[in-house]
Amino acid sequence: MKDIVKTLTEYVKIETVKSDPEVNAPFGKKIREGLDYILSLAKSFGLTVRDIDGYAGEIEYGTGQEVIGILTHNDVVPLGDGWTHEQGEVFEGNLYGRGTVDDKGPTLAVLYALKQIKDEGIKLNKTLRLIVGCDEESGSECMKHYISLDRMPEIGFSPDSDFPLISCEKTILQLKAYIPMDKFWSDNVLELKAGLRPNMVPAKAEFKIKKSILPEYYSELVDKHKAQTSEDKDILNLKFSGVSAHGSTPEEGENAVWKVFEFLTDIGAWGVTKSIKHYLLNEDACKNMGVYIDDEDRSGKQALNVGTANYNKDYNTLELALDFRCPIPQDTDTIINRLKDLFKGARFEITHRMPYLYADPESKLVKTLLASYEKFTGQTDSKGIITGGGTYARFLKNGVAFGPTFPGEVAKIHNADECISIESLKKLVDIYKDAMVNLAK
Ligand SMILES: [Zn+2]
Repeated sequence: MKDIVKTLTEYVKIETVKSDPEVNAPFGKKIREGLDYILSLAKSFGLTVRDIDGYAGEIEYGTGQEVIGILTHNDVVPLGDGWTHEQGEVFEGNLYGRGTVDDKGPTLAVLYALKQIKDEGIKLNKTLRLIVGCDEESGSECMKHYISLDRMPEIGFSPDSDFPLISCEKTILQLKAYIPMDKFWSDNVLELKAGLRPNMVPAKAEFKIKKSILPEYYSELVDKHKAQTSEDKDILNLKFSGVSAHGSTPEEGENAVWKVFEFLTDIGAWGVTKSIKHYLLNEDACKNMGVYIDDEDRSGKQALNVGTANYNKDYNTLELALDFRCPIPQDTDTIINRLKDLFKGARFEITHRMPYLYADPESKLVKTLLASYEKFTGQTDSKGIITGGGTYARFLKNGVAFGPTFPGEVAKIHNADECISIESLKKLVDIYKDAMVNLAK
């Protein structure tokens, strides 16, 4: 039998990036090839396999009526630039390659754990089912299809995040705001363009304004905000820089759009400009809006990221992508109604809304998983993590994200040189085996 390092090396070399659909390959040829690789390996281990129309694969052990689901995925994001290691290269105890952590390594770890359970003939009362999705990175169409077939188990975990485990995933509310601007904008502003996606803190903002409106001391303000400038006749072009971060943790970044609005209020803009700055573009925005909640240890704090900003000159309207991550007690309609009150005449369109996921720390699921984690790491008193992000576990009815990244590890998920330590990979097999056996007893 090939060991897990060998198979992971082979598996990451199949570049399972989404492409045009083909017959029995709804997410393209390479994802199909990766799914076939996993299913045939599982078959060679003597496990029961099922191909769910190319959307997902099922690998089962046991015959119990009740099913424990373990949800992983076979697709990856594109390689991108900047790699200093080959795909599948082993260097100083780490295995490099796209998907080693997200999520091919964990997929194989669960598969090898299932093989061990089978080979040792461990008696279980419940069936263990590894579900390998094929579209996690681009919209999770795989799980929408899977759920439509009514096959999703009631309970389980997803090795697609961090250890010890994710106990709460906040409610996500993403809105597109269309805010009518005033005469200051129609007379003086020519362009504002920033951001790529709602769930990213924009690191750059481009802004064009007429020089005639600027005070004499404006160059001091340019220096204060460290903006780069160039001039086009009577127009000043400004480029503001910030620091990108995930939209669920805006406090880890520096929003370039905030700087545009600081600059504008510094030069004396008021009215709607000031309102946008006060209610949407600063660290106390949610407090200023009156929708701030801190649910502390259970589900954390209210957060807001303004991910994109585009000024539509023709309609004198500012379009903003708002990304709210809300603790459990928050009612998302309250946020929307408050925004409508604060910005009269503005339009707010819901682009994404996903309810929170919460696991009771006293539940059997959480206690069992944490016990397995502690058994193989020597950790004690481990607690669930609160995240504003949405993990794959949200597709389980009663599930949590559990590993694969250990505290302190830098996994470089979605970045160049993604890698997993071989020691960690082997530890994953032990932890997942122990957890699955105890959940299925
Ligand atoms: Zn993933």
